[in-house]
Amino acid sequence: MKYISTRGGGSPCTAAEAIKAGLAPDGGLFVPEATPELGGNMPEELAPLGYQERAARILTPFLTDYTAAEIKASVLAAYGGGKFDHAAVAPLQTFGDGFSVLELWHGPTSAFKDMALQLLPHLLSQALAKTREAREVVILVATSGDTGKAALEGFRDVKQTRIVVFFPDEGVSEVQRLQMVTQEGGNVVVVAVNGNFDDAQTGVKSIFNDPGFSAELGDRGFLLSSANSINWGRLVPQIVYYYSAYADLVKGGRIRSGQEVNFVVPTGNFGNILAGYYAKQMGLPVGRLICAANKNNVLTDFLRTGVYDRRREFFKTMSPSMDILISSNLERLLYYATGGDTAQVSAWMSELNASGAYRVAGTPLARIQETFWSGWADESTTAKTIRAVYEHCRYLLDPHTAVAWSVAEEYRRETSDRTPLVVVSTASPFKFNHSVLAALSGPGATRGKGEFDILRELSAATGRTVPKALATLEHKPVRHRALTDKAAMADAVRDVLHIVKDN
Ligand SMILES: *Cc1c(COP(=O)(O)O)cnc(C)c1O
Repeated sequence: MKYISTRGGGSPCTAAEAIKAGLAPDGGLFVPEATPELGGNMPEELAPLGYQERAARILTPFLTDYTAAEIKASVLAAYGGGKFDHAAVAPLQTFGDGFSVLELWHGPTSAFKDMALQLLPHLLSQALAKTREAREVVILVATSGDTGKAALEGFRDVKQTRIVVFFPDEGVSEVQRLQMVTQEGGNVVVVAVNGNFDDAQTGVKSIFNDPGFSAELGDRGFLLSSANSINWGRLVPQIVYYYSAYADLVKGGRIRSGQEVNFVVPTGNFGNILAGYYAKQMGLPVGRLICAANKNNVLTDFLRTGVYDRRREFFKTMSPSMDILISSNLERLLYYATGGDTAQVSAWMSELNASGAYRVAGTPLARIQETFWSGWADESTTAKTIRAVYEHCRYLLDPHTAVAWSVAEEYRRETSDRTPLVVVSTASPFKFNHSVLAALSGPGATRGKGEFDILRELSAATGRTVPKALATLEHKPVRHRALTDKAAMADAVRDVLHIVKDN
């Protein structure tokens, strides 16, 4: 299987090369030359298997330059060894009315990013060996909160790598911030950026797109790469849990094999839901992919009208990992919607860059709308959903998942579609303890209280245990205090690598 750029530049490369590079040389995103089809029996074949074996089955056709032994070792290391606090790794909770919740937050950082970022470092290390790479890889990450911590945990003390994480100083929850600034490991650096997530992401992208900077680093034995969801190595592990959820529905007798299922996905950078789109293309009986947005509803507008327009107010919400106005992975969907018209994709991306907007119409839009539906939830609806679902189902949602649950209900109200629905749950409610407790007990419930008092209170109120990695944050020393302006991010990287700037 070879990989090509959504913008048509460069020549086809192997999975290892695509994973090592992160971004294609022309600024596009890597996509497989053809999407493998797995056949209708795959879910039944997966049903008796554990998550690691399921993962190996789905990854293999994409990673044809990796040996079976390499893939097996990677999935065992990523999803075994007690790193996930649930034996099923990605368990499915079923409710009445054809609703299920796929819990993707049982990994070490309590958010769904672990599903990919526990695996990526293994795939990358193997890629370095395969491509006889001698340089040290510097992973740059822009995070809206969850990616940063998951990448730090995944890459800490991985040989031949360093990782630098940029997070928006004012844009993450207190638990998310503490998770990052207390990170241990000899190869990790965490830097706060004055600005929002888009500022951090744009800063990282412009570092990647600066050939002079890459050359400067290359001369000193460093190679830049990305652990953001634009990296193919982030996307491919996410396809697994769509298959896994479907296999569990069949196994539990909730659906007949072959019956369609809809997935509702809390969406920001469009990586998670895009993995569902790959699963559908591979033959998984996915009906609709429902894109749930918060008040930053640029994707809802796009999926309804074809107009992508980022020129709008940016809102900070209680679901910060979805506070995004530029959804990078949408570029891959555009590639498929145009039937691989890389010139058209490049033109839209240039328009987005130059003017902040572009319009998709005609066949590509029709193709997108055939599969995708979108709704969004405002802050008060999100809070009400957390409370209502707890009251009626005794099930605690984090704000991101609550957005998805609310959009799932909206979808059922507005369409006659009664296809079984899987709500994809992306974070532990304890990670967003303030918003969740305030939603349950009113806005006064958190006033004047410390972070860890709130965690304990939430635990007492709901009878659920705080994930261990969050509970122990209280006593961890802060190790990272750097703060940079968005214009100075490249200098921050130079500092980390002890590079004196060329003149
Ligand atoms: C990253 C994240 C999202 C958004 O996922 P994308 O793949 O960027 O669309 C949603 N919820 C949580 C909790 C996340 O960490």
